[in-house]
Amino acid sequence: MPVYVMGHKIPDSDSIVSALSLAYLKNQIGEEAIAVRQGELNPETAFILKTFGVEAPALKTTYAGDSIYVVDHSDRAQSPDDLDQATVLGIVDHHKLGDITTSAPLECWIRPVGCSNTIVKEMYDHHGVAIPKEIAGIMMCAILSDTVIFKSPTCTPVDIKAVEELAVIAGVEDFKALGLEMFKVKSALEGTPIRELVKRDFKDFDMNGNKVGIGQLEVVDLSIFDSIKAELEADIAKLREEGERHSVILLLTDIMKEGSELLVASNDISVTEKAFGKTEDGKVWLEGVLSRKKQVVPPLEKAFA
Ligand code: MG
Ligand code: MG
Ligand code: MG
Repeated sequence: MPVYVMGHKIPDSDSIVSALSLAYLKNQIGEEAIAVRQGELNPETAFILKTFGVEAPALKTTYAGDSIYVVDHSDRAQSPDDLDQATVLGIVDHHKLGDITTSAPLECWIRPVGCSNTIVKEMYDHHGVAIPKEIAGIMMCAILSDTVIFKSPTCTPVDIKAVEELAVIAGVEDFKALGLEMFKVKSALEGTPIRELVKRDFKDFDMNGNKVGIGQLEVVDLSIFDSIKAELEADIAKLREEGERHSVILLLTDIMKEGSELLVASNDISVTEKAFGKTEDGKVWLEGVLSRKKQVVPPLEKAFA
């Protein structure tokens, strides 16, 4: 029976690539593994896979009776709805420890680094397995994406070293240029329906019994949102109601200016204001804020505690 390797709901590049890179490693060390995904590819991930000629994992949304490795998350809210009926063999992740639990011992690789693929790289080194050129290329891009080309406060020297080593294997000379090209692909919004934008990189969290959704759009120039900001605000308000969420927050992140504008829809704005300060018409600019997991989720969880 093969085991499945699976990232979070609404997969980002790290979730797709760590499923692929970990599945390859597992096969090399004698464990038959298949990379899968819980949702559609975003344009950035499609660009990365196309650049290195790698096929996307198959879509798989139910896991009852399966054995799985969970990558790039450990929160139930981001895992399949029937996870309780699956056997979790292991977790490889770089987020806060979530609420996935197991009934048997598991393989656990959780590190405070910038990307799950940085940890998968350590696993290859640990097992002495060579990384194929195309897998090195997609892993490198996933790390550049998650660390916002090393600008994110989540980035560590281990991530930078991993990218440098992977770039050599992949035969990429100017990885920062490729990273910027990738973020330009990510910044192309024209013609995309508003709801698709809001949910492009969206995660639900359980904060002290409250359902909180946080989306993030990382772009090279925030002014592209000027003409659609009112629509984005109206849509997060709708999304909050539809999903019976306490709050929905959308981070509009400018990777060049290195900060984020927060759009907030909440049934109690005082909670989000406790975390991020006074909002103006449900908006606030946060200088230096690039990371949801390190700079947005922790103060918000504190405000809900
Ligand atoms: Mg992710
Ligand atoms: Mg990640
Ligand atoms: Mg991210």
